[in-house]
Amino acid sequence: MRYLSANDYYRSLFGQKVYRLALDAGCTCPNRDGTLGYGGCIFCSGSGSGEFAADRALPIAQQLIQAKEKVRNKCGSDKYIAYFQNFTNTYGDEEDLRRKYEEALEDPQVVGLSIATRPDSISEKMYGILEELSKKTFVWVELGLQTIHEESARWMRRGYELPVFDEAVRRLSSISERLNVIVHVIMDLPGEDEKMMLQTIDYCSHLPIHGIKIANLNVIMGTDLAAAYEAEPFPLLEMDAYITLLEKIIRRLRADIVVYRMTGDGAKRTLIAPLWVGNKRLVRNCIESSFREHDVLQGSDYSPKNQ
Ligand code: SF4
Repeated sequence: MRYLSANDYYRSLFGQKVYRLALDAGCTCPNRDGTLGYGGCIFCSGSGSGEFAADRALPIAQQLIQAKEKVRNKCGSDKYIAYFQNFTNTYGDEEDLRRKYEEALEDPQVVGLSIATRPDSISEKMYGILEELSKKTFVWVELGLQTIHEESARWMRRGYELPVFDEAVRRLSSISERLNVIVHVIMDLPGEDEKMMLQTIDYCSHLPIHGIKIANLNVIMGTDLAAAYEAEPFPLLEMDAYITLLEKIIRRLRADIVVYRMTGDGAKRTLIAPLWVGNKRLVRNCIESSFREHDVLQGSDYSPKNQ
C-alpha cells in the first residue's frame, strides 16, 4: 500500500523539496467577528489556528524574509509556497487581499500560494481572483471541514453545514487544473467513534479534492476546548491507537490524494493534551516504523493532470 506525501508531490511538480512559509494576511474570521459568532471554533486559538505565522503587522515582503529566516537552518530549499494560514484568508476586502497574494508572488523564490479559508467565506469576486491567480501560479485553497457529522460540527461551532462545503469544493476544483483543494479534518472528536471518523475520510475520498491534512484533536491553552477539557476531561487517543487509526485512514483514502499532515501540530508550549503530540520527532519515527511494519509506504507515483 503506497500513499502520496507532500514531499513526493512537490518533488514531482517542482523537482525538489519545497517549504511552506506561514504568513498572516491580517484577516479575521466570521466565526469570531460576530458575523456568525464571537467565540470561534471551539479548538481555535486566539491566533486563528496559525501559531507559527510571521508578524501580521509587517508587509508581506517583510513577513517572507522573517519566515525564511525561521526555517533557514532546517529546510534546505530555495523554493517556497506562501501559506496564508491564520484566520480566514479570503475574508476581507478582496482587492486588499489580492494585493497581498500578489506581493508574495513578487518574490522569485515563491512558486505558489496556499490560502486557508472557510467554504462560506469566498465571495464571487474572490472566486474570480483565485481563478486569475491560478493562471499565474499554483494555488491551493485549504478548507476546514473537520468532520462530516453535523452534531460534531455544531459542538465545535463550525458555523456552516456540509452542503456549503460540498459546493465550495466543486466550484474551486472546477476552476483550473492549477487550483487545488486541500481539506482539513480532525480525528478523535468527542462523540465520534472510529466508524464515524472513517466516514469523514470516505466522504472526502469521493470529492474532487487534491489533498488532505489530518489532525488528531489537540487541546490548546486559551481555547474554549481547553476550558471544557479542564472542567471535565475526556479521553483522547494514545499515540499507538492513533497510529493504528492513521493506517486505516491511509488504506482507504483515494490513492491520488496528497497527505499533507497526519497529526495536530500545535505549539508544544501551549499544548495541554494529548501530550505525546508535542514530541514530534518521536511521533514521526513511530509513524514511520509502524507504517513500514504494516506495509504502508510513502512514495506513490504522482501524475500531474496538465500541470
Ligand atoms: S474558521 Fe478557522 S479562524 Fe475561524 S474560528 Fe474556526 S478555526 Fe478559527
